[in-house]
Amino acid sequence: KSNKNSDTQVAVVGAGLVGSLEACMLAQRGYDVHLYEYREDIRTLEHVPGRSINLAMSVRGRTALRHIGVEDSIIAHHAIPMRARMIHRPDGSTAAIPYNKDGQCIYSVGRRFVNEVLLTKAESFPNVTFHFQHRLTAMDITTRTMTFTNPTTEETNTRTADLIIGCDGAFSAVRKEMLKRANLNYSQNYIPHGYMELCIPADKHGEFAMPPNYLHIWPRGEYMMIALPNQDKSWTVTLFMPFNIFESLTSPQILMNFFQQNYPDAIPLIGEEKLVKDFFANKGLPMISVKCSPYHVGSSCLLLGDAAHAMVPFYGQGMNCGMEDCLVFDELLTKLDYDLSLVLPAYSAKRNPDAEAIVDLAMYNYVEMRDMVNSRWFLLRKKLDNFLNLIFPRSWVPLYTMVTFSREPYHMCIKKKQRQDKVLHCTSLAVLGTAVVGGVVLTWRSGSASDWLHKTF
Ligand code: FAD
Repeated sequence: KSNKNSDTQVAVVGAGLVGSLEACMLAQRGYDVHLYEYREDIRTLEHVPGRSINLAMSVRGRTALRHIGVEDSIIAHHAIPMRARMIHRPDGSTAAIPYNKDGQCIYSVGRRFVNEVLLTKAESFPNVTFHFQHRLTAMDITTRTMTFTNPTTEETNTRTADLIIGCDGAFSAVRKEMLKRANLNYSQNYIPHGYMELCIPADKHGEFAMPPNYLHIWPRGEYMMIALPNQDKSWTVTLFMPFNIFESLTSPQILMNFFQQNYPDAIPLIGEEKLVKDFFANKGLPMISVKCSPYHVGSSCLLLGDAAHAMVPFYGQGMNCGMEDCLVFDELLTKLDYDLSLVLPAYSAKRNPDAEAIVDLAMYNYVEMRDMVNSRWFLLRKKLDNFLNLIFPRSWVPLYTMVTFSREPYHMCIKKKQRQDKVLHCTSLAVLGTAVVGGVVLTWRSGSASDWLHKTF
């Protein structure tokens, strides 16, 4: 903690998973933190609208939570370990694929619960001030002035800060303002798939209707469905499919035929009536992938979390990466003695290759999860990776393990995987080459090859 920071006012815009965590980390370093959030305080709401009810938390997110002392209150008591994927085949049979050979697991956590714990933690710091129902509607970077509008009363007010940190998600208003400046690169990409959340309720005994310590996956090529367990013994089921398929399911009969064909074992679990009701009460939601660079402007403005790098949800890393952003920023603050004019550019330089790497990996897993978990090559490669990891535990770590169970920089995960692919490629070429040469020599010896040569030439 540095007391000289108490004169520096930091505005964190967005009190979601990343913003509320960042507020805690800055408060620990002694800054005067103001947390501005569009919504009301979610701890006072009965129903919180928004995305995915539960999320998979892994090592990067856990390390960040530990840094502010809330890991145990989330993981030990309110998270459900998922030790393997449980693949549901179209015929209703299932197969478990463990995440890694050491039995490490990921955890299903409730988005609202994690956000509430982080807000309560932030509230415990005397140097954090909350401003709910403050929607950032304009910003002047030069004067570091922000305009907020109350979404209910439409009243506006302006505030200033020494540093503005945009943690306001994939459609960030802070980023929009930053983009008006030169030298900020930006790209966004909507995928043709949408997602919809459904629910498998607890069974009639109040228990989980499926084995709980798994991330259940129904891979079906173009479509996919997954389910993560909740504390109340229900499951949040997420259906992923192209928007045109969502639109083609126009009646209960067509929907049931589609489920009968693709997810027959899920029908009794969800319940036919509930499935029809929930499906037609919802709609397919879009998924966006965002890249931008750099993440800062001078020493006045910075983007963290989805505001900097929204990704499709197929690696379960969006929140984990956003939380790790806060850790990386905190590490640089202490390393560079809190000099923001050095820390912000250093953060962009360090984090950009990693964030872009995980955005790419998430897109890669978009195909792998729905398709490759069905393929023999995918399963063979998993076995081969695990076997090589057993022999070379340090130098051969499978990609998923590096991403999910370590803090290896994401761009290094990709580099190491490319090296592994090269080794396998060269080894298989060498094996093939040896087999061909061996075959020719044997054939030659048996006389048929020399006969063939005589006939040909
Ligand atoms: P957000 O969670 O979007 O929070 C932004 C906050 O800013 C919100 O509170 C919002 O109200 C506020 N805000 C927005 N605009 C303004 C404004 N103008 N002014 C003031 N406040 C504003 N990640 C994982 O790690 N594991 C998973 O299993 C996983 N599953 C996912 C499943 C789905 C279907 C989806 C869509 C995402 C999933 N993610 C997962 C990604 C994860 O949800 C995000 O990466 C994470 O929520 C990012 O947190 P954030 O705080 O940056 O943004």
